[in-house]
Amino acid sequence: MSDDVDAAAVDPAGDRAVLRTDGVTKRFGGLTAVDDVDVRVEEGEIIGLIGPNGAGKSTLFNCITGRLDADEGSVSLLGEDVTDWPEYKIARAGLGRMFQETRVFGDMTVRKNLLVAAQEGGARVGRLLGRPDSALQARTDELLAYVDLDGLADVRAGRLSFGQQKLIEFAMALMAEPEVLLMDEPAGGINPSMLENLIEYIRTANEDEQATIFLIEHNMDFVMEIADRIYVLAHGERIAEGPPASIQNDQRVLDAYLGRE
Ligand code: ADP
Ligand code: MG
Repeated sequence: MSDDVDAAAVDPAGDRAVLRTDGVTKRFGGLTAVDDVDVRVEEGEIIGLIGPNGAGKSTLFNCITGRLDADEGSVSLLGEDVTDWPEYKIARAGLGRMFQETRVFGDMTVRKNLLVAAQEGGARVGRLLGRPDSALQARTDELLAYVDLDGLADVRAGRLSFGQQKLIEFAMALMAEPEVLLMDEPAGGINPSMLENLIEYIRTANEDEQATIFLIEHNMDFVMEIADRIYVLAHGERIAEGPPASIQNDQRVLDAYLGRE
């Protein structure tokens, strides 16, 4: 779609979008899982993506990361049109991702998990390509301290709680110093007592690591507290966008969550 490519190239001055989708559409057979969705994520923002189950949130993420090819529309990352790029190349260009399900290797130590994330070929390596082992070790120690897991660095990851395993994944995603980090339900299944910590870790990643954050989350209190702006999907369509206070009072959003059309 050359029109969309051109539109991305002629952004008005001052458009600080590090990630944008224009008219992204994804169909599975007769189902339109993502329907003509535009999002703009600006440098330094923490953006929420919410919507009822099956709304198309994870599918939109998959279209952004290159895991799925959109049927229509375009995706731009840091001003480059990455619509047709393979997943590993988009990751190397600065897009990090944390998945809904944990992918930690239970038999390896916590530290080893981070090193493997950095060393495994392709997708997660990002800017760490070619760095000496000592630099990777230092980065590992830094990130483990940052999520308060430094005391558990040499413990097998499988012995840690689910919430702690999610923190390992968070640290793994940060290893490559992503410019933009996509997180699919980071608070899902996490002990309520750990939620405030998670909010602090995400804020620190946003401020100190300068990672722009785009996150899907079901926990409303969590997303309302952390997000600068929120996009709402329902039946694949973007039905609302705005700061948390306006989303909370949006009738279309309330209707979507209550299952009213
Ligand atoms: P959400 O993350 O908002 O809960 P998803 O993006 O996972 O929603 O799913 C959106 C819709 O697309 C759902 O109806 C789901 O069943 C469907 N879907 C997702 N992935 C596939 C797939 N690989 N094949 C067929 N249908 C899919
Ligand atoms: Mg999902």
